[in-house]
Amino acid sequence: MIDSKAMQKLSYGLFVLTARQDGKDAGCIINTAQQISASPITMSITVSKQNHTHDVIKATGEFNISVLSEEATFELFTHFGFQSGHEVDKFKDFVLPRTENGLTYVGWATNAVYSCRVTSMIDCGTHTLFIAEVTEARTLSDSPSATYAYYFEHIKPQPEPKEESKKGWVCKICGYVYEGEELPPDYICPLCKHGASDFEKLS
Ligand code: FE
Repeated sequence: MIDSKAMQKLSYGLFVLTARQDGKDAGCIINTAQQISASPITMSITVSKQNHTHDVIKATGEFNISVLSEEATFELFTHFGFQSGHEVDKFKDFVLPRTENGLTYVGWATNAVYSCRVTSMIDCGTHTLFIAEVTEARTLSDSPSATYAYYFEHIKPQPEPKEESKKGWVCKICGYVYEGEELPPDYICPLCKHGASDFEKLS
């Protein structure tokens, strides 16, 4: 059996993933990125097909990863993670710096940036696994990386205790509340695009 609560104990880092197509920037937050070889330096990331940034990377074969540090704010998660790039331009109010490949990155509340060129893609159902060569890597600060555990404890606002008798399900990632007795098993959070396994029942 799979205990999805057990899976959530994996303390991932958190990353802003950025890409660019036809002069337009795209970005979202992901929680899986790892170095998979040292020479050449390659990385893998998994990206939900629900994300507009996924489609941009698939089309262009390039992306940047900005590693979020403990200085990251909830507003940063709200901006890049909890709204859809299909609906809004997340970059219209920002002037963000760019790496040598011309792609943007988040230069604050982050501690490193990597530029990557995709070498292969694997279709994994709801997600695509991108394997990529790192073409540029830069340290941005000495602040520690934000883990999922750190996000839950220190960045995400704590739920207000007085919403007692409300019936429904709450997204543990972004706090979105689904009102209803039963949460459909294929339900996807409209804000952060995480699935039903990341919801818990309001008690
Ligand atoms: Fe959510």
